[in-house]
Amino acid sequence: MIVILNLDAADAQVDGLRRDLESRGLIVQDIRGESKRVLGLVGDTSSVSEEALQRVDFVERVMRVSEPYKLSGRHFHPGDSEVALPGGVKLGAGHFAVIAGPCSIESEAQILSIARDVKRSGASLLRGGAFKPRSSPYSFQGLGLDGLDLLKIAREKTGLPIVTEIMSIQYLDVFARDVDVIQIGARNMQNFPLLREVGGLGKPVLLKRGLSNTLDELLQAADYVLMGGTPDLILCERGIRTFETATRNTLDVSAVPALKKRSHLPVVVDPSHGTGYWDLVYPMALASAAAGADGLMIEVHNQPECALCDGQQSITPALFDKLMRAIGAVRTAIEVN
Ligand code: PEP
Ligand code: MN
Repeated sequence: MIVILNLDAADAQVDGLRRDLESRGLIVQDIRGESKRVLGLVGDTSSVSEEALQRVDFVERVMRVSEPYKLSGRHFHPGDSEVALPGGVKLGAGHFAVIAGPCSIESEAQILSIARDVKRSGASLLRGGAFKPRSSPYSFQGLGLDGLDLLKIAREKTGLPIVTEIMSIQYLDVFARDVDVIQIGARNMQNFPLLREVGGLGKPVLLKRGLSNTLDELLQAADYVLMGGTPDLILCERGIRTFETATRNTLDVSAVPALKKRSHLPVVVDPSHGTGYWDLVYPMALASAAAGADGLMIEVHNQPECALCDGQQSITPALFDKLMRAIGAVRTAIEVN
């Protein structure tokens, strides 16, 4: 529910109303725009009488929000959100950032070499999986905490903030301490206890769309994270399961404008998992930038043919460099037109 206030409502009056609503167990967001002030009510609003609110003299209008998500929706936050990351990196509200790195951290030499290459080409953040969600229990599962240590070394040597996936609440403290952006992978998009806990760490979060989830479901999952308290949330389209077998997933480029219409949160696209093939990454990365994405996540490997995970969808540092220049051209073109 949103309560639109008269612009001349006195702060003391609004605070009184706010306390009354909070005492009913609701989360109240006070949204002040240039032309209106709105209270966004999150929670079970069945005990709130629309009519009684309408009678309050400084209330202009009351509206029920029909969408199943609230905090991530535009009703509650009309302007675009900007996520500020360590090292002065910004994402959203006109700021574009590229996250690049290998699927998995394999060795110090591997992660350092890739980190240096992607930094030179203009990546703003370094990715690398330490805890890998693999379909088969017999596949490489990641180096775990040792991998995280190597990722931290790469951060120290390059200055790039690090993005890596959390799979279990067991490691919340370690991630809160060591990781700059905590990734929640596609398979955990609806792990609701994990979403709440990660949202409470005070760290930026990157939430990937589930393999078979709708955009409404993604935004409801986003609300779980935002309810934890962090405002710094990035959504990631990474392809969905369809009947098509020519690609690993079907990259839903239309998710970018569709999400941005519904939500104030920044949207990045991962064309590596989205397509599953290295030669499709370049065109789909450009398509995503042209569709208005706020950033990209790209898997880059110095020896894709030897990668322990996802080598077939990893591009080389040389192709990544070419891609970064082409993205610059696409961004210039869409800004000009
Ligand atoms: C990843 O980014 O390493 C990953 C496993 O992606 P997803 O969760 O989208 O499959
Ligand atoms: Mn991968």
